[in-house]
Amino acid sequence: MAIKRAVARIDLSALKHNLQRVREYAPGSKVMAAIKAEAYGHGALQVANALADADSLAVAHFEEAMQLRWAGEQRPVVLLGGVQDMDELLGAIEQKFQIVVHDLAQLQLLESLDSELGIDVWIKLDTGMHRLGFSADQLPEVIRVLSSLRNIRLLGWMSHFACADDVDSPFTGRQIDCFKQATGSLEGVRSLANSAAIISRPESHMDWVRPGIMLYGSSPMLGQVAADHDLQAVMSLESRLISVHEIKAGESIGYGQTWTCPEDMPVGVIGIGYGDGYPRHAPSGTPVFVNGQVLETVGRVSMDMTCVDLRPLPDAKVGDRVELWGKHISVDDVARKAGTISYELFCRLTSRVEFIYENTN
Ligand SMILES: *Cc1c(COP(=O)(O)O)cnc(C)c1O
Repeated sequence: MAIKRAVARIDLSALKHNLQRVREYAPGSKVMAAIKAEAYGHGALQVANALADADSLAVAHFEEAMQLRWAGEQRPVVLLGGVQDMDELLGAIEQKFQIVVHDLAQLQLLESLDSELGIDVWIKLDTGMHRLGFSADQLPEVIRVLSSLRNIRLLGWMSHFACADDVDSPFTGRQIDCFKQATGSLEGVRSLANSAAIISRPESHMDWVRPGIMLYGSSPMLGQVAADHDLQAVMSLESRLISVHEIKAGESIGYGQTWTCPEDMPVGVIGIGYGDGYPRHAPSGTPVFVNGQVLETVGRVSMDMTCVDLRPLPDAKVGDRVELWGKHISVDDVARKAGTISYELFCRLTSRVEFIYENTN
């Protein structure tokens, strides 16, 4: 077996702690844990097992839901994107998935269903994000169609926030009002809050909350880090120093010569790059953690390697462990430096990275 250089350590006890934090923020709500896209790159099956206390699990696609059932998952699994065709609908019925219905084409699919078995349905409303969901105007028609269908069990109503990560945005309050107005007199449970709203908008918690990113120990709020909400990093991305050498003042490091040594200085090479999923857009000055110290990268990230300024740590040597993000380096800080969000950094680690699950019991 190939020896992998980069390692993602997944701390399952941190995941449980973060779910407990969701419970503390939203004590009156059930929890639908978002584990789409391989649990934001952490591994869907391992994460689902560790989140034994979650009331249901949410994924984007039919295939993601099947993967959970094949592994023996018994809990309700919600298809956030619903089903795309009759095969998926029949599969969803057989597997007892809960489906989100957000489009007229999906309603027509339900109308053409010829099955004695029923299916659990969430209806998604568009309260202003204008991605998925029915507008409030369409609701009467949606309800009319659904109530004419025998094998549909209407569970409830959901919607999604566009700007909940920004506490200053007035739009979130408007979406909450819109949702309450549209669904207030209807039967069924209600679900609105993603991680950001779980933390910042108690009035949005309602019957079911839908945490994603906060479970993985990253801050859902703009300009904040996980520790601000007592969340613990679940993933630690690590590699090692594969070279250490002295570079003369005035010499430049790496592709494009974007960083020049201001003095004679030690520079280390970390065995990780964008080929592993470390962001190429991370500029010089992005923090990394080596031997108890926060150091800074220098020069461009390349496919397999990233360089680091070792002036604060002249004793560093080949083989020393480097944390790119995790318990000491906030993934939120790295994401901000790289002009992206932690969600994307987590999701785009490549198969070159070895995953190690810790605190599995
Ligand atoms: C992914 C997702 C969530 C979770 O969002 P976070 O910002 O990660 O908490 C909630 N609801 C829906 C519909 C989603 O697609």
